[in-house]
Amino acid sequence: MAIYSHSRLEAFRNCPLGYKYQYIDGIKSDRDGIEAFMGSRAHETLEKLYRDLKLSKMNSEDELADHYNRIWEQNWHDNVFIVRKDYTAENYRETGERGIRDYYRRYAPFDQGKTAWIEQRVMIDLESSGKYSLQGFVDRLVDLGNGTYEVHDYKTSNALPSQEQLDRDRQLALYQLAVPEYFSDAERVELVWHYLVFDKELRSLRTEEQLAGLKRDVIALIIVIENTKEFEAKESALCEWCDYQDICPKRKHLFAVEALPPREFKQDDGVKLADRYVALKEEEKRVAEEIEEAKQELGEYAEQMGVENVRGSDAVLTVKKAEKLCFPPSKSPDRALLERVCRDLGRFEEVSILSTPRLSKIVAGCLWEEEELKELEPYITREEAIYIRKKKASKIEEPD
Ligand code: SF4
Repeated sequence: MAIYSHSRLEAFRNCPLGYKYQYIDGIKSDRDGIEAFMGSRAHETLEKLYRDLKLSKMNSEDELADHYNRIWEQNWHDNVFIVRKDYTAENYRETGERGIRDYYRRYAPFDQGKTAWIEQRVMIDLESSGKYSLQGFVDRLVDLGNGTYEVHDYKTSNALPSQEQLDRDRQLALYQLAVPEYFSDAERVELVWHYLVFDKELRSLRTEEQLAGLKRDVIALIIVIENTKEFEAKESALCEWCDYQDICPKRKHLFAVEALPPREFKQDDGVKLADRYVALKEEEKRVAEEIEEAKQELGEYAEQMGVENVRGSDAVLTVKKAEKLCFPPSKSPDRALLERVCRDLGRFEEVSILSTPRLSKIVAGCLWEEEELKELEPYITREEAIYIRKKKASKIEEPD
């Protein structure tokens, strides 16, 4: 049986294909986004702080900052990558160090309760059968006495969540479920986040109903994951940090050519084909505009000369000026009103036509009953088609 965790559930929510690569195919990656690299070093540093305190050793602020910088150096490798090109590794290192120092100054001498767990692996049972269980790693659990516990989590993200987002956060609420399993005196559990980059402590409390709802939602999500056959690639801003860009069909080509020097980039077959297609589409647009211009000029010419037929080298063009009726565009409010009028007149059938794009969507998405779709089947032929959608790409610098 698969072992789930908050990060595993998040991976599926963010991109089912990325989830498959990581958790089903077990593809390992040696790439490390600098944000994750900095987060790991900050966690390890605070872990040392509290482990040392357990053994009555108090680090000074400088000793702790030195430790952070030492493990930064020791763990650094060539596959640490930076997506935000305006920042350097040094900017990130310094940000982490500042977060550690701020944390130290805020909480020293660290006597806010007794530390019960440090980087503790816990198992969370979502229902008594043990069929749905998750594992989690709690950064720190604090025992405040009188049955009150705090689940602490360190974050190095450069965005602060709203209180509403925190009150919906799944990770720490799941960890909360584990606390009474391990500590029978636990009566009240608070969730505490330390946003190190902002020197901010944020908190949330969950009711029993919220926790019951959370369990139901997580079980439902696990059922969805376990019944998924097609793991769809879900493109988003997160793709930039994805470890599978070199194999994912959505990113593979972008990833491969972005690493090329500009001259080689221009020589790539895919780049050449995409450039040719875009150039032809632009030409098509320009030609359509030119045709419209020529049409107007022909109309004016025919009117001035008082002719209806205009002779060309290979063709005779019949040019007529007539009134064109315009109706409200589809999806506009007036269009809906116009449709209503036609229906009220009992004339709608006369002016409506079968929409093949809509029909395609219905058949492809199985949006009608199976029996109804079967009735359509004799009228459907299937051909292979290529669909191309254009979107903006980031700029590649031209060679000097
Ligand atoms: S690159 Fe994007 S779409 Fe592809 S697997 Fe990763 S997150 Fe998913």
